[in-house]
Formats: sequence, structure tokens, C-alpha cells
Amino acid sequence: MPFHQDSFEAVVIGGGITGAGVARDCAMRGLKTLLLEKGAPGAQTTAASSHLIHGGLRYLLYDRLTTHATSWDSGNILRVAGALLKRLPFIWPVYRWHSHGIETVETLLEEYDRFQRMKGGRPHLRFSASDTLRVVPSLEPAGLVGSVAFDEWLVDPVALVEANLESARRHGATVRCGVEATGLVRSGGRVTGVETASGPIPARLVINAAGPWIDRVAAFAGASIGLSLRQGTHLVYGRRLMPAGLILEAPPEAYPPGAGRDQTRCVFVIPMGDRTLVGPTDVPCADDPGRLQSEPDEVRYILGTVRRYLAGLPRHHDRTTVGARPILEVSGDEKRLSRGFEVFDHQSRDGAAGLLTIGGGKMSDFRLMAEAVTDLACRKLGVDVPCRTHLETLGGQPVPSHPSFALPRRNFKEFLGRRPRLRELHALSYLGLAFARHLARRVAGGRRLARPEDWDAYYR
Ligand SMILES: Cc1cc2nc3c(=O)[nH]c(=O)nc-3n(C[C@H](O)[C@H](O)[C@H](O)COP(=O)(O)OP(=O)(O)OC[C@H]3O[C@@H](n4cnc5c(N)ncnc54)[C@H](O)[C@@H]3O)c2cc1C
Repeated sequence: MPFHQDSFEAVVIGGGITGAGVARDCAMRGLKTLLLEKGAPGAQTTAASSHLIHGGLRYLLYDRLTTHATSWDSGNILRVAGALLKRLPFIWPVYRWHSHGIETVETLLEEYDRFQRMKGGRPHLRFSASDTLRVVPSLEPAGLVGSVAFDEWLVDPVALVEANLESARRHGATVRCGVEATGLVRSGGRVTGVETASGPIPARLVINAAGPWIDRVAAFAGASIGLSLRQGTHLVYGRRLMPAGLILEAPPEAYPPGAGRDQTRCVFVIPMGDRTLVGPTDVPCADDPGRLQSEPDEVRYILGTVRRYLAGLPRHHDRTTVGARPILEVSGDEKRLSRGFEVFDHQSRDGAAGLLTIGGGKMSDFRLMAEAVTDLACRKLGVDVPCRTHLETLGGQPVPSHPSFALPRRNFKEFLGRRPRLRELHALSYLGLAFARHLARRVAGGRRLARPEDWDAYYR
């Protein structure tokens, strides 16, 4: 039967990493599932990402529980998608002119080490200035104090989407790309299906996983979701520029005019096979997420940062990528925007039964996002089947046994989720304690700096 003449228990709108993860979870719990993607799978925000499955080092500054949850789920993603992930070591060089000294940066990495073990990451290393230059000889030597090294996981995001969709199909889901949800079918206030150009598709439940378009899809049911879209541009070089990833603090003169100085901004250099990604930016996004364009100011900011450190950067990049981070709006300033996710039950929230939305989050916790919204979908549909997406690899094999770690308590995460100021204070108080411990250890002495051969032994 053609899919548009069939009816489904769950119709998922959006075939980025979020929707692909949701379709897999729904199908693995036995729901008759359809996924609709208006374009190609993973071709929007997901493809424009920095290609990292990471724990969210930066969130330790203002949203520690999101670092915790993301690291936890990154560990699951590593186990289910292992073959698609590759360890990528990063060097974070620290210069005399930087806003944070090396003791502060190392403290941040010491705190991150606690979460690294959840995601198969290695504890950080610290190098002297001269040994940093042995590991990355092309770095600017003037003013270099030293560096810290740590690792994240590199992934081809479109391959990750496709592998999730393939797994969903194997579990019985139908996937249709090139089909846009143009509206929602409603009956007596309840959402009962999805409108498409080929006609309506009946559904017991519609799950809106449309990334930066979730607000538009929710609006089909008269619901509003506040999104604060943040545009991110990368420059792509058609060759490998570095032996390792780099984190480079942006010098103030590189900031685009009007950019806030309230937080330190960094540019990543990410070697991926025989290409290199350099970016991203993080600027408000005024446009339709489907028609984004990199702005000259963004390119100037990236180049102005990287050239400060790498005089040998090629004059021309080959292309740019641009995407819109689908960040949920909260009151408060930009710095405190959470990278966490939320499940919206439009029945209790807007009187639109039959519609759920999954919003916010990142690629690095897509599986957890899918689990959260599918748990609710199952409760609504009266289906009592637990999530298994962390127990089976994308290829269909059982996940081998592994150490288990606890997630942050859900009610505590929700409590801080609604209170950005408290969330930031909570994060900073951990860092404050960690800094005191770090300084005491430094003064007590006996700490060995890593050597370049440690780098080789560690990451090769
Ligand atoms: C510059 C940048 C760098 C990032 N780097 C990272 C990173 O390194 N690691 C990380 O974890 N996260 C990263 N993120 C965040 C991450 O990329 C996103 O959170 C994630 O990709 C969002 O996936 P998604 O599926 O929700 O959205 P998308 O990938 O945008 O997918 C949504 C899909 O919905 C489809 N759609 C929309 N409306 C309809 C409709 N009406 N009918 C049918 N289909 C529809 C769209 O075509 C689209 O394919 C980054 C984001 C940006 C912008």
C-alpha cells in the first residue's frame, strides 16, 4: 500500500539526527512508524554541525547537568555507532594575552575528566610551551604559555542519520524523504494526522522533530514554541591542515561589530580525513533556517582568529557550511541559553492532543532526546515497552557489557532548567571548588607535565 494511504501509530516529522533517532526508537518499541523528511536525510543542521560527539566542555561554565547528560549519552552513542566514530584529540593552546590563564583552563579540563570516562574519553594532558610546539609545530610561539589536550569523537553526521534510519527500517519503520508535512490534520482540537501534497496521512500521534523548524510545525496546531536560533558557519578546507584538533580563543579584535564581549569565544580547527573544518560562529539567526547564508563578518571573525595562531593558513577556503542551532528560548541573556532539550506535550500545554515536540539538544544527545519523547509517546499510546536503543548497535548487534554511570536526577535538571541564573551559579560553584583544589595541588608540587611521547602513546 502506498504510504499515504496507510495509517500509522507515530508519524515523525523531520529526518535530521533527532527525527532519525526518534523513528528508530519508536520502531524498536513496536510502534507502526512513518518518518517524513522534506529534503535529504541529515542535510540541514545536522550536516552543518562541527561533526563532534562531545560532552559539552563549554557548558561546564553555565549548565553542568547538560554536560553530565550529554557525556552520558555520548557514551551510548559510542557503543551503538562505534564504527562511525573516530577519536579526535584536541590541543587548547593558552597564550599570555588570553582571558583565562592555563591554571583556569586546566581546572576546566580536570572537571571535564570526570565526565570523559562516561564517553570513553581520556583524562587531559598538560604540555609546556616548547612541547606544545613539538606536537603542533605550526602554532605561533610568541606568548605561548602551554596547552592542555583532551579528546572528543568525530563522526560523519549524515552517515549517523542514515545508519539510524536504516536501523529504524529494519525494525519496521517507513521512511519517506522528499515529502513535506504541509499541515496537521485536526479533529475536535486533536491532531489526527499529517497533511502532505499527496494527501493526509492518519496518525495516532505526530512527533515534531523538525529541528529549527519545530516552531513552524507546532504552529500548524496553533501552538507556539520560542526558539532562539543561533547561526553557525564553518570554513571548509579541502586538505588536512593539522595533526590534531585545535581550540583557539578569539582575540577581541576578531569579534564581529556588535558581538557581546560577555564570554570567551573560541574557534575550532577540526581535521576530518583529508579535509579540515574551521569554525563555528555563534550569531543570532534572523533568517528562515532553510535559507541561511554565511555573512562576511562571520568569515572575517574565523579568519581573524585562526591567522593569529597559524600564519601558514591557506589563503583560500573551499566552501562554507552554515546551520541554525535550534536552541529553546529562555528569558535571560545569551550566555545562559541552555543546550539542553525539552519534550513538549501539546495536549497539556496547548490543548492539542496527538502532538508532541522534541526541541533543543544536540547531536551528541540525540539518542536520549529520542528516548524521552518516545517514552511519552508510548505512555500516550498505552504501549509498555522500554527503550532499547542503547542496548543494540545500529547494525543490530547486542551492545557488550560496559561500566554504567548515573544520569543527573531528572527533577533537579528540570528545576535548574527553568532557572538560568541558578543553573549558572550551580556550574560555577563546582568550578570554584575545583579551582581551589587545583591551586592547592599546584602549590604542593609534584605534578608532571606531559611529554610529546605521551601524546603519541595516548592518542595514536
Ligand atoms: C554550526 C553548528 C555546529 C554544531 N556542532 C555540533 C557538534 O559538533 N556536536 C553536536 O552534538 N551538536 C552540534 N550542533 C547542534 C546539532 O547540529 C543540532 O542540534 C542537530 O543537528 C539538530 O538536529 P535536528 O534533527 O533536530 O535538526 P535538522 O538536522 O535541521 O533536521 C530537521 C529536519 O526536519 C526537516 N523538516 C523541517 N520541516 C519539515 C516539514 N514540515 N516536513 C518534513 N520535514 C521537515 C528538515 O528538512 C530537516 O532535515 C551544531 C549546530 C550548529 C548549527
